[in-house]
Amino acid sequence: MRRLRSLIARVVRRRAHRPTVPEATTLSAAAAPGDPGARVGAPVPPDPGSPAEAPGRVDRVNPQPAPLSEVVTTAEHYDVVVIGGGPGGYATALYGASAGLNIAMIEKGKLGGTCLNVGCIPAKELLETAATYLHVSEAAEFGVNVGEPSLDWSTSLARKDKIVDGLVSGLGSLLKGRKVTVLDGHGRLHAGKKVTVSGGSSGDLELSADAVVLAPGSLPRTLPGFDVDGRVVMTSDEVLSMPEVPKTAAVIGGGVVGCEFASMMSDLGTKVTILEALPKILPGLDKDVTRVIEQSFKKRGIEIRTDVKVEGHEPSGSGTSVKVSGESLDVDVVVVSVGRRPNTDDLGLDGTGVVVSDRGFIEVDGTCRTGEDGVWAVGDCIATPALAHIAFMEGVTAVQDVLGEDPPGIDYGKVPWCVYTRPEAAFTGMSEEQAKEAGLEVVTQKSRFNHNGRAMIVNQPEGMVKIVAEKDADGGAGRILGVHMAGPWVTEQLGQGYLAVNWEATVDDMASLIQPHPTMTEVLGEAMISLTGRPLHG
Ligand SMILES: Cc1cc2nc3c(=O)[nH]c(=O)nc-3n(C[C@H](O)[C@H](O)[C@H](O)COP(=O)(O)OP(=O)(O)OC[C@H]3O[C@@H](n4cnc5c(N)ncnc54)[C@H](O)[C@@H]3O)c2cc1C
Repeated sequence: MRRLRSLIARVVRRRAHRPTVPEATTLSAAAAPGDPGARVGAPVPPDPGSPAEAPGRVDRVNPQPAPLSEVVTTAEHYDVVVIGGGPGGYATALYGASAGLNIAMIEKGKLGGTCLNVGCIPAKELLETAATYLHVSEAAEFGVNVGEPSLDWSTSLARKDKIVDGLVSGLGSLLKGRKVTVLDGHGRLHAGKKVTVSGGSSGDLELSADAVVLAPGSLPRTLPGFDVDGRVVMTSDEVLSMPEVPKTAAVIGGGVVGCEFASMMSDLGTKVTILEALPKILPGLDKDVTRVIEQSFKKRGIEIRTDVKVEGHEPSGSGTSVKVSGESLDVDVVVVSVGRRPNTDDLGLDGTGVVVSDRGFIEVDGTCRTGEDGVWAVGDCIATPALAHIAFMEGVTAVQDVLGEDPPGIDYGKVPWCVYTRPEAAFTGMSEEQAKEAGLEVVTQKSRFNHNGRAMIVNQPEGMVKIVAEKDADGGAGRILGVHMAGPWVTEQLGQGYLAVNWEATVDDMASLIQPHPTMTEVLGEAMISLTGRPLHG
């Protein structure tokens, strides 16, 4: 604790001498695609503008990877050492550096982790490819005649790769600009907040730190009997680079990622069957939101089979035959989308108080502190919602806690969730079922997009906004408990709902706000004003 106090005092002193705090920049704006400023997965070269002897710089004592037993360096000391360069790790590094901390971040793969390389960004990019294909298919309805669209999948993949590379490169530049020391290799934590780095191009190093943040992320889960070959059996990692769009596919798992892949492939012409063990797809979403997605999927020919047991598969021809609840389903590819597991198997941790649960998650308290003093854990390696924006905020929380700023912690029941299927889904706060289970009396309102001018204009009138509000003393709608949306661009519309739930706004507060016309957010406004008992349009 004494060390932590001296760290805070040092940061305060350093801040006092800093002329400016580095300017906040967006990732995409930070560097143009292909910017040579940062090589993917490699340490950022020293900034020519900073003195070589700058405190915290790690000497490359051994540029060739060498076994850990050959580590001979003296520990280099940092304010914070971060293990993992995904959203959790890089948010910690960027935010900590903005606050004046001297930070080293260790990444064994590519900067940006799952999110930038094999998660959020490439998945949404391919969904946009599918949306573009669909727009062109429907262009004749607008009187725009372009003929039948055809897909050049290699160009689609190249565009996706270019966006990923641009963001990864931009991240490298941002880290470099904030003077974060990025090390390429496998990081492990040892007793006394010592961290070793090995097996990468930074060579074998030993670091010490006042604070360590663990952010090793997660890996796709697989199923017994479904060996991933990247051709017939794929996880999300492989789907995002699949060499061609299959004619038929089985998606095992109807969660968010599985449904996003189902939606994308179906819009590109694949006959998709979703196989889900639970009674409904998209568990966790309000039932009315799920219903909108299900109805749309079924209308488009996506087969949804719930309550089924996947028993294995038998390769046949160029595809395979999946055994499902005693029946066979012949498909070209199988996408195994059964969740992710924390990547905590090889983090060292011997002799530390860091506790890993039976399920592999690192145990933390409300501000992401582990059982070891001065060690935090953030992102997918802890049992909180596995979302990039949650990892970002956990990184921010950890840094604030390192600095003794007494962060409030994250209210995980009120975070924003987005599903990028067609139609999209988005929600925050309690579903109707959850509110009732919590013993609350609720009032609900559903307002639909099918009479909304903008939704009709863009030809996407499916869906609705559902508000869950607490019943107040006179039986009317009071505090807003949850906002649930399914429909066009709702991932971009959730913001108002997020603020309403988190600022504990009432229906009256929200109903008095003006929604611009014509926009899709008018549906949210309509739902709020309807809850006051005086609907305007519907
Ligand atoms: C297909 C798909 C789509 C997704 N879409 C979304 C979405 O739309 N929105 C959203 O919010 N989330 C989405 N997610 C989830 C999101 O990607 C994760 O929640 C997020 O990446 C977690 O960040 P993280 O930093 O905890 O872990 P990761 O992103 O997994 O990063 C961890 C990093 O640590 C590195 N590492 C691990 N161990 C070590 C070690 N010992 N030494 C050095 N480096 C190490 C890894 O190489 C990796 O780069 C999606 C995920 C998938 C798979």
